[in-house]
Amino acid sequence: AIDVSGLNKYYGNYHALRDVDFSVEERQRVVICGPSGSGKSTLIRCLNRLERHDGGRICIGGIELGDNLRDLDAVRREAGMVFQHFNLFPHMTVLENCVMPQVLSRKTARRDAVERAHAYLERVHILDQATKYPGQLSGGQQQRVAIARALCMQPRIMLFDEPTSALDPEMIREVLDTMVDLAEGGMTMVVVTHEMGFARQVADLVVYMEAGEIVEIAPPDRFFDAPQDERSRRFLSKLV
Ligand code: ATP
Ligand code: MG
Repeated sequence: AIDVSGLNKYYGNYHALRDVDFSVEERQRVVICGPSGSGKSTLIRCLNRLERHDGGRICIGGIELGDNLRDLDAVRREAGMVFQHFNLFPHMTVLENCVMPQVLSRKTARRDAVERAHAYLERVHILDQATKYPGQLSGGQQQRVAIARALCMQPRIMLFDEPTSALDPEMIREVLDTMVDLAEGGMTMVVVTHEMGFARQVADLVVYMEAGEIVEIAPPDRFFDAPQDERSRRFLSKLV
């Protein structure tokens, strides 16, 4: 589903991603972790071209990401994204947040868009909040709306960048449960998170990054119980 090879990214002179190679198979769940500034967000943002890369190849669903706008549109259809700070439209109701993008960028008939929005809001257990505005919801509820909104676009891949790190502790679980549910439904997922319990529970692979490089890629058992690289060991020893 995702194929990244020899990926490099610079911010000015700063080398933010160094020869990154990784791939994600359909229905795989990949968790990316690593210290602050290691390039996790940069990597995930390159995957749907919120950032341009400077070298290497990124293929999403068989489409290579480049300057072709039609391809970009196709990739954005393929991959939904959920951010740390929800990024809901504050002046629109929860329902409209889910309906409007479908109508505008998918040309979905409004009636169908509303029906789909109801279905996904139900799925994240928040349909009862549909007529409220984002500002009237808790952080956990807003994040679940953001997930429903992304799902309304019927992506084949979901990208998450620290979806729980702006939440109060008591709301983290409800968002993680939604993500576990999505994973169990077979969604292909790439998740940047510090929630190592979630990684253990759902990840097929854990990617550990440091200083713009992938240091280690391993299944969770091996990553947590027998990390191969000194840098991963140091990172893990600081977690508990
Ligand atoms: P965090 O855990 O804090 O979210 P991260 O692993 O997501 O960190 P990135 O946001 O990908 O890290 O940033 C990687 C490096 O690139 C950092 O040193 C950061 O300062 C730098 N960087 C990120 N975005 C930009 C930008 N738009 N312009 C310049 N430098 C940037
Ligand atoms: Mg980040």
